[in-house]
Amino acid sequence: MSKGRRVRSRFLYVQCNHCNNKQVIFGCAKTKVNCLACNTPLLISTGGKALLTKNPVTKLPNAHILEILDRSL
Ligand SMILES: [Zn+2]
Repeated sequence: MSKGRRVRSRFLYVQCNHCNNKQVIFGCAKTKVNCLACNTPLLISTGGKALLTKNPVTKLPNAHILEILDRSL
C-alpha cells in the first residue's frame, strides 16, 4: 500500500564558489559530484536530496544552486 510519488528527473544547475564554473548535475543519482573545472567536491547527491559539500575551514558550501530544473518524463 505504498502511494509514494514517482521520483522525477531533477537537474540542479550549480555554480562552484571557488572558480565560478557552472554545471548541471543530475540530482537523483547517488553520487558525489566534483567541479569539472577545479575538481572541488561540490555536493553529495543521495537520491533526491543534494547535500552541498562545505569547506571545513570556512564552513561555507563549496557551491550554490542557481536553479532547480524539473523534468517530468
Ligand atoms: Zn570549481
